[in-house]
Amino acid sequence: AGAEEPKAVEAPLPKSRNLDVLSEFERHKGKKSASFVVVGHVDAGKSTMMGRLLLDLKVVDQRAVEKLRKEAHTIGKSSFALAWVLDQHAEERARGVTIDIATNRFETDKTIFTILDAPGHQDFIPNMIAGASQADFAILVIDASVGAFEAGLKGQTREHSLLIRSMGVSRIIVAVNKLDMVSWSQERFEEIKNQMSGFLSMASFQAKNVAFVPVSGLHGDNLVHRSSDPAAAWYTGPTLLEELEKSEPSGRALTNPLRMTASEVYRTMQSPVTVSGRIDAGSLQVGDALLVQPSGEKAYVKSLLADDMPADWAVAGQSVVLHLSHIDPIHVRVGDIICDPAKPIARADRFTMKALAFDFLTPMQVDVHRGRLHAAGRIEAIPALLDKVTGAVAKKKPKIVKPGTVARIVVQLESQVPLEAGQRVVLRSGGQTVAAGLLE
Ligand code: GDP
Repeated sequence: AGAEEPKAVEAPLPKSRNLDVLSEFERHKGKKSASFVVVGHVDAGKSTMMGRLLLDLKVVDQRAVEKLRKEAHTIGKSSFALAWVLDQHAEERARGVTIDIATNRFETDKTIFTILDAPGHQDFIPNMIAGASQADFAILVIDASVGAFEAGLKGQTREHSLLIRSMGVSRIIVAVNKLDMVSWSQERFEEIKNQMSGFLSMASFQAKNVAFVPVSGLHGDNLVHRSSDPAAAWYTGPTLLEELEKSEPSGRALTNPLRMTASEVYRTMQSPVTVSGRIDAGSLQVGDALLVQPSGEKAYVKSLLADDMPADWAVAGQSVVLHLSHIDPIHVRVGDIICDPAKPIARADRFTMKALAFDFLTPMQVDVHRGRLHAAGRIEAIPALLDKVTGAVAKKKPKIVKPGTVARIVVQLESQVPLEAGQRVVLRSGGQTVAAGLLE
């Protein structure tokens, strides 16, 4: 055994304070963390709304917003707020609310929010998938103006809602936008709310997890500040920010075994192997031994940052930077899963998933995406078509799965990857998303 662990003698193991992380967490319970994606039809007003939200939160100033907005449009890169807002310099940020440029993070009195994507129009779906695979909730932006809602429902409003739901995101905040263009018509808001409620419930969002806020992203009405337009007085519910702050991190049992997906792996002064990402489940502390999958190599936590602050420990939901020791950089890659060596995630080259089809599915080659991990594989079998709502078997061994339907499928991979039930995965083929869903 001595010969197998030469690294252990190179340097002393990091000192652990042997903290009871869960009681530390309870004691220090400060701000909660929540992550979200912003989705919706092209031109629904996603950029404008996010830009205005950050402006009203004093994360950015008006001049910077205008400048960056123009630049973004000129280079045609993206009309999304974050692409330009997040590119700013620290001096431009006001006190009280902070934003982390590298991680798309901003902070209010109660919550640290992470915006999980910064998509442009071109490559929106892959970005959204990466984001949705980690999101606690989604903001769906809808253009309420005449004809636009209807067009959106045929277009991306529907596709995006189904996609985020099939990725396991259960809470959705619907920002019914551009209400200034319909004179703040309550009737129009209710009409959209009714239609969307019906659609979202069919897509198996539970009513208690769906909220509707009438807003004008352009004028900043009901984002951070309540609308001062008398025509909007009928709405007395929560603002978008109040809805955001209601978000509870989803499905991250602190007591579950540690799981963290490596979003970035790089070299720093502190360590040749520094890994950043979000803790999906469990907790960790300085001195802990970790297992990196699929390499199966052990590493130790030398030091860490939790939500940008140096810390002794971190829990599920937090974004962390881990400085690792006793591991060679070749054993850690983006998309890897870092886990508890006592309760590791398994490696497998075959899995069964419940998939929402976006295209026709038959036995075929597919690229499997899980967060930032990509692996080549093949749909090998389709054991059943499932009822979209109940999940019950509707038909056994179909030859083909039609778009918009849900099926149980078996995928064979070309390599071993860390896999476990409940993971959110997406299948792509020829640059298109063909299916998304949860591992069984
Ligand atoms: P995105 O493609 O979803 O990011 O949409 P943009 O934010 O680029 O907005 C598309 C267009 O809608 C732009 O011309 C915006 O000025 C306009 N727009 C966005 N929000 C509002 C709003 O609340 N009211 C009005 N009147 N126009 C808006």
